[in-house]
Amino acid sequence: MEKDAGVITARTGLICLLGYPVSHSLSPLMHNAAFQAQGLDMVYLAFSVPPADLETAVAGLKALGVRGANVTVPHKEAVVSLLDDIAPLAARIGAVNTIVNQAGYLVGHNTDAPGFLDALQTVRPQGAEGARFLIAGAGGAARAVVAAVCEAGATAVLIYNRTAERAIALCRAAANWGNAECRAVGREDLATALAEVDVVVNATSVGLQPGVKDPVVPVDNLDSRRHVVMDLVYGTKPTALVAQARSKGVTAVDGLEMLIMQASRSYHL
Ligand code: NAP
Repeated sequence: MEKDAGVITARTGLICLLGYPVSHSLSPLMHNAAFQAQGLDMVYLAFSVPPADLETAVAGLKALGVRGANVTVPHKEAVVSLLDDIAPLAARIGAVNTIVNQAGYLVGHNTDAPGFLDALQTVRPQGAEGARFLIAGAGGAARAVVAAVCEAGATAVLIYNRTAERAIALCRAAANWGNAECRAVGREDLATALAEVDVVVNATSVGLQPGVKDPVVPVDNLDSRRHVVMDLVYGTKPTALVAQARSKGVTAVDGLEMLIMQASRSYHL
């Protein structure tokens, strides 16, 4: 498996990122740097896969002997039914961000959940234990975050999502993940919801496209004495949510920390 740094041969193993879009992703940079540093004969490439092509792309992982893959927005939930087996945590969450190809047998894992908890500790050293969360989003990333914080002892989880039915469904699922009081909130309830929570998380893809000025959670009612903010979105500049929260003196981090934490777990798999 050892090789000359940067040389791709007929034996080089392939790891993929499947997402739509993927051009913003830092995963190829991180994983290729790690392969080179460790002298592993592997290369990591990102593939832009529209939802209609996901099934064919996953079948292609087997056909081409791809060693493994990361899965990102918007495929994390849809990919679950396309795999041969799902690790217990990913099965509980219902979302996969890492696929390991075990000799033609595709196993799905979720490293977003532990990666989020690792990142949370950088802004809240006591972690999720006893904390109250407002989480925006109800897609694959939000499922991982809600499961992670519920299983780690959060006492309350309020979920806002543009499509309210998905927030309600996620609250129902959360009943299996711990004892947190979980309820869906509407857009009009966000200001009052902030008064009930300690940690605000954006797990929607709002902010992923550059130039977004209005964060999904309005920052007017953020309080630097009680709130910390985590945006799962990252880019070359702080997201609107992070920038506006920081301008109010609130501790806020973008998705870079979580990206690194989940990627390191994914890399080991
Ligand atoms: P997903 O499954 O496609 O879900 C997208 C979510 O965003 C849904 O809740 C969707 O609401 C919401 N949304 C999309 N556009 C919106 C808009 N214009 N206004 C309001 N809500 C909108 O995606 P995902 O996998 O959960 O990922 C979500 C984000 O987290 C992505 O930006 C991804 O890059 C990021 N992420 C980062 C990390 C990290 O390590 N930093 C890890 C995982 C994910 P509806 O249900 O109404 O469509």
